[in-house]
Amino acid sequence: MTIYLGCIADDFTGATDLGSFLVTQGFRTIQLNGVPKQEPDLSEIEAVVIALKTRTIAPKVAVKQSLAALEKLKSWDCQQYYFKYCSTFDSTDNGNIGPVIDALLDLLGEVFTIACPALPVNGRTVYQGHLFVNGVLLSESGMQDHPLTPMTDPNLVRVLGRQVRSGVGLVPLETVEAGVHAIRNAFQVMVITGVRYAIVDALTDRHLKDIGTAVKTLKLITGGSGLSINLRNNFDIPDAHKKSADHLPKLPGNVAMLSGSCSTMTREQVARAKDKYPSFYLDPSHLIENPQFIDKAIQWALEKVTQDSVLIYSTSAPEKVKTIQDQLGLEKAGELVESSLKKIAKALAAAGVRKFVIAGGETSGSIVKALNVTVMRIGPEIAPGVPWTVSQGQEPLALALKSGNFGSPDFFEQALELIK
Ligand code: ADP
Repeated sequence: MTIYLGCIADDFTGATDLGSFLVTQGFRTIQLNGVPKQEPDLSEIEAVVIALKTRTIAPKVAVKQSLAALEKLKSWDCQQYYFKYCSTFDSTDNGNIGPVIDALLDLLGEVFTIACPALPVNGRTVYQGHLFVNGVLLSESGMQDHPLTPMTDPNLVRVLGRQVRSGVGLVPLETVEAGVHAIRNAFQVMVITGVRYAIVDALTDRHLKDIGTAVKTLKLITGGSGLSINLRNNFDIPDAHKKSADHLPKLPGNVAMLSGSCSTMTREQVARAKDKYPSFYLDPSHLIENPQFIDKAIQWALEKVTQDSVLIYSTSAPEKVKTIQDQLGLEKAGELVESSLKKIAKALAAAGVRKFVIAGGETSGSIVKALNVTVMRIGPEIAPGVPWTVSQGQEPLALALKSGNFGSPDFFEQALELIK
């Protein structure tokens, strides 16, 4: 077994996003939810993504967890290491992107890496070190109001500069346009002059491909999932492996679709799926008023899923969500719905349901934890950034985990079509 890429992602759905990019390119990939306590089965595996939840925690803790992940990856002797963060560079002046990069470089004994969040397919581009979202500066894109990581400065040279130990350089678009050799030369000049980090401009996938080729000799690379789009060519991987990269074992039975996301796209997706599959509205006001309501939901699900794939959703319009949040408080409202969906998922899994589609980033994280899923083989892509996965273990589960606004309106149907 050779692990070509050992990746660390700073959040759960970000890890799946990168995993999906890697599989699309032809890496046989698994996602580990946290640093594993037991050795996963790595036979056949070419890329590993360790999903952490370090984006918004204290920098010291983020560094500690990231180093533990890197130690684990190093024990498998990966050929290259990849720190993955969001394509909107979600962080604060304290971190955690910069402190984690510094710590990873130190542990690897390396003196230079790049920071390349560009993801043109989702409208994230970097020009003169400035990050744009669909042509709008990051600081005017809505990200300036993010509750946890407000991005008020679009200049990534400055942003990263405030987070790391020494100066940050820029590989500007003219150099990237000039191709692989020019990009490599720029890296070499930085290494010679003691620059440890380079923000790299990129507007298109062609730029990312050239950057991907240019980073071949770097032990550590950092960026969004877009940076991965040409990495496979850097390694000597048999072409025959490529075809089977997204193969997953077939699992029997109907699918349980559980939705705790109230994002605009999910609401549209749920509205469509309701017309097609038996569905149950897990109304939070009923959950509050009637302690038996959850048992009713479970009973309904267990009965229906023997005949057809089913949808259970708490997905509601903003006014309805607000009413519940005003009544219980934001956190308690989330907890009530999440714990109910977890109970339903556990009851269904205990009854033998093997396939789940879960909508909602937080919802996915909590259900996957409740189902004790720690290792997931990444399979075919349902929508950009959302693959089917199958867990490792005695009773494998197929899981499709979708955060908020991912996927097109017929996402549920597409997901079910792919897993038939
Ligand atoms: P997304 O990826 O769309 O942001 P998440 O699962 O991350 O979805 O977050 C949605 C949050 O809203 C969860 O904590 C969930 O429990 C909560 N929630 C879901 N439905 C409702 C509802 N009807 N009322 C109040 N909160 C809800």
